[in-house]
Amino acid sequence: KAKNPNEPEFIQAVTEVLKSLEPVIESNPAYEKAGLLERIVEPERVIMFRVPWVADDGTVQVNRGFRVEFNSALGPYKGGLRLHPSVNLGIIKFLGFEQIFKNSLTTLPMGGGKGGSDFDPKGKSDGEVMRFCQSFMTELCRHIGADTDVPAGDIGTGAREIGYMFGQYKRIRNEWVGVLTGKGLSYGGSLARTEATGYGLVYFVQEHLACHGDSFEGKTVAVSGSGNVAIYATEKAQQLGAKVVTLSDSTGWIHDPAGIDVALVKQIKEVERGRISEYAKRREGVEYHEGRGVWSVPVDIALPCATQNELLIDDAKQLVANGVKIVAEGANMPTTMDATDYLMENGVVFCPGKAANAGGVATSGLEMSQNSERLSWSFEEVDAKLQGIMKSIYHAADDAAREFGHEGNYVMGANIAGFKKLADAMLAQGIV
Ligand code: NDP
Repeated sequence: KAKNPNEPEFIQAVTEVLKSLEPVIESNPAYEKAGLLERIVEPERVIMFRVPWVADDGTVQVNRGFRVEFNSALGPYKGGLRLHPSVNLGIIKFLGFEQIFKNSLTTLPMGGGKGGSDFDPKGKSDGEVMRFCQSFMTELCRHIGADTDVPAGDIGTGAREIGYMFGQYKRIRNEWVGVLTGKGLSYGGSLARTEATGYGLVYFVQEHLACHGDSFEGKTVAVSGSGNVAIYATEKAQQLGAKVVTLSDSTGWIHDPAGIDVALVKQIKEVERGRISEYAKRREGVEYHEGRGVWSVPVDIALPCATQNELLIDDAKQLVANGVKIVAEGANMPTTMDATDYLMENGVVFCPGKAANAGGVATSGLEMSQNSERLSWSFEEVDAKLQGIMKSIYHAADDAAREFGHEGNYVMGANIAGFKKLADAMLAQGIV
């Protein structure tokens, strides 16, 4: 804490992981001797830079850009770029740290990193977004590369932003390589990448349910957020027979007791870039509420898919009182630590983001493979690989929890399974 003042999210993420790893460290003195824990909490490299750009009204704007290259033991740094006014170094470090374990769990050769800027794409014109992205990439391009560091999308960084950044990278470096993932389908993107995080989240929960003789059929589900992850989690859960009854954004939330109309949400969010309040105006029987409250609706399964620390202790109490059975994180660290503890103590199955939302980065890994072989796989092929990866992540977390005597504790299981592969690679590579 003394070393990283003003980085509460980073401290929170590290504390959770280190707590889980206690039994592994105790049973492996070699890890302690090699200073593994001290090394994994320190990023290999932190890059911060000025991003100047000119707004439509002619004024000069300056944002702050970040890239945290956290750990490359398992492969090139890999992780998204977040564009949101709340972005600061502590948030990027927490996301980069989580990413190391998540990427390890996917079984693909990817290290961990994260980046972004405090730029807010909301309300900006296409021209402004393009000028920002070009300025951002003008600096970032000297630090990344297809075999070095491969950024992707995250909050605020969708296909449009990735396109502008890719164009600028190519222009400066004069090379067409898979340096970013989440690209458009016409220039090297992977089919099923858009759907992957949300679908993968649902596949993870589906595997848990299947292992316990159950399924999504007939379940009521609450989803928060209304961005990429939320939309495709909703779509897949409903395809599997569940009814999703909520969505939200940072202004408010909707309750649609009949089940979310996914086509309408896509129209409002993906085509019109509108607010979720618009949904309630266009569909009968839907309530819209300002502020928080998405977790007050009685459901069997809750899928937080918006942002960090959006499911608090009082929300956990309300979900438990309403009989929730499973909480699975689509977002990164959406549940606070006390809320997580409360849910688990009260018998709720808790699926942590670094395992449950790993489908996005896994499919990014598949996009890198396709770019390297200059081929594109079919939607069905990528989706089948994604399903296989989510199943294997579920069982890796389940097995690791069992091995250390904490059956059903997927927080511990995911941290341990992710760590072991990383630790062995770092030991083999010496003190670097
Ligand atoms: P999007 O930008 O597409 O959507 C984010 C959604 O969350 C929006 O509805 C947004 O509402 C809402 N939101 C953001 N910040 C807040 C806030 N402070 N309070 C309440 N609501 C908020 O992002 P994604 O769907 O891509 O990402 C969502 C989460 O999933 C993030 O935690 C991200 O790191 C994680 N994730 C994403 C992956 C991906 O492949 N996209 C992969 C793995 C994890 P508003 O429009 O009002 O801001």
